[in-house]
Amino acid sequence: MAKAFAALLEPALSLLYPAHCAHCGVRIAEGLDFCGPCAGTIESIREPRCEICSEPFDGLAGKLSCPNCRGAAFHFEAAVCVVRSRAAIRDLVHRLKYGREIWLGRILGKILAQGLADPRLEDFGADALVPVPLHPRRQRERGFNQSAVLAAELSRHCGTKVLDALARRRYTGTQTRLTRGARRQNLRNAFAPRKNANVSDMNILLVDDVLTTGATLDACAAVLLENGAASVRAITLARG
Ligand SMILES: [Zn+2]
Ligand SMILES: [Zn+2]
Repeated sequence: MAKAFAALLEPALSLLYPAHCAHCGVRIAEGLDFCGPCAGTIESIREPRCEICSEPFDGLAGKLSCPNCRGAAFHFEAAVCVVRSRAAIRDLVHRLKYGREIWLGRILGKILAQGLADPRLEDFGADALVPVPLHPRRQRERGFNQSAVLAAELSRHCGTKVLDALARRRYTGTQTRLTRGARRQNLRNAFAPRKNANVSDMNILLVDDVLTTGATLDACAAVLLENGAASVRAITLARG
């Protein structure tokens, strides 16, 4: 009933509120999210890129891993990152997180869902989508967890359930000025399994907004494996 009413209302609403580019705000055709120039700034990550962390390479295509991944041995098998964290994407993620524009989750979720077609996820058979948790204090400040918003959107596209399996137990503060090693150390004990969330023998797909070094996803994956998950892969909207 509510759905039918919404369908009736939608044409009227689109007259009142015509479509605008989510980045620059110019008028655009119904059904689009971006104007042409802004859509042109969105860079999909395609091969050649690292099989494990999705870092793009210049040069030859093929199944390659980057120098970072060769030594690092992440706990996740692969992290699929859909687009570069630049221009319109960087702006939208920022507005979602710090501007509380939760409606952008729908647009970003649509882009994130493109990653489901990546060969590294095609044969995965995820049993659950697990969002990377925020510390409770930060979640209170922000009012929501952007990774949970993205996981819910992804679930609408693929039908896999969202499982809130992880909690963040220590305030790690800002990570941006720390070295890679220091970040890992800082994050090692930041995540814990949530009571009543059983991940035994499950293939888990971790969901986050942006992959920067992979340390956060690695810490989450380690906790999930310690608690019986069969395997962990990850999907992020963007790569820094
Ligand atoms: Zn635009
Ligand atoms: Zn890599």
